[in-house]
Amino acid sequence: MNKGKKLYEGKAKIIYSTNEKDLVIQHFKDDATAFNNLKKAKVEGKGVLNNRISEYILTNLAQFGIKTHLVKRLNMREQLIRKAEIFPIEFIVRNIATGSLTKRLGISEGAVLEKPLLEYCYKKDELEDPLISKEHIYSFGWATEKEIEEIDKITLRINDLLSGMFRGVGIKLVDFKIEYGNAWNKDTEKKEIVLADEISPDTCRLWDVKTEKKLDKDRFRKDLGDLIPAYTEVAKRLGILHEQSNVTAVNVTKLSSVKKKSK
Ligand code: 5GP
Repeated sequence: MNKGKKLYEGKAKIIYSTNEKDLVIQHFKDDATAFNNLKKAKVEGKGVLNNRISEYILTNLAQFGIKTHLVKRLNMREQLIRKAEIFPIEFIVRNIATGSLTKRLGISEGAVLEKPLLEYCYKKDELEDPLISKEHIYSFGWATEKEIEEIDKITLRINDLLSGMFRGVGIKLVDFKIEYGNAWNKDTEKKEIVLADEISPDTCRLWDVKTEKKLDKDRFRKDLGDLIPAYTEVAKRLGILHEQSNVTAVNVTKLSSVKKKSK
């Protein structure tokens, strides 16, 4: 597989072309961003951990019949993935109230929701990914009713599978964001909806069951420190890293060049 030119660079990942038209390479960077890029830092080792954790999670979901873009992990920072036309929508699932939900609606922090709440945001950095309704999605043609019906079902199933996976290792899945795209299936010769992007502590909120310690990107957003030890803890509990491995020992705790842009 030959790596070609850069096709797209996002905040945490880069996509490269390959010599196969339906496959691309997803590269995980060490860049951490929050508050729509107002806060930025390089966190050495984050990309390596997210690559491994996301590979593990997507592989597990695939074993339960969820179609994903992942073909295989290529190396420490890269995955071979199916090229997909990404819906411009972030699909957010919440099990426990926190983050923007508590701010927006005044729901108490930590309230356990009666049933998982599915929200949609328009993927548009300039607009700070605003919350939208299904009617916006249909009116602007961002996805069809049939596509959203299918995605909603897959998303709630993913929530069940992930909640169980994390609960088994002493972690509460508080909320998460996922993305989907349409990818070509060469066997059926049709496009199909696949889970895309990544699922990692960058895109989920993960709390320790007993202590409620945050094991996710909120450590960066809220300046709690120890981001790499927290991500390493998630990887160890999932059995991806050996108990003995100590990623912090290879100088990955450093939060360098934290810049805050003034508004
Ligand atoms: P909130 O809306 O409370 O900020 O986020 C809800 C969930 O979606 C959290 O798990 C958060 O990490 C995830 N999320 C929402 N928007 C983004 C985004 O633009 N990037 C990433 N990495 N995660 C997001």
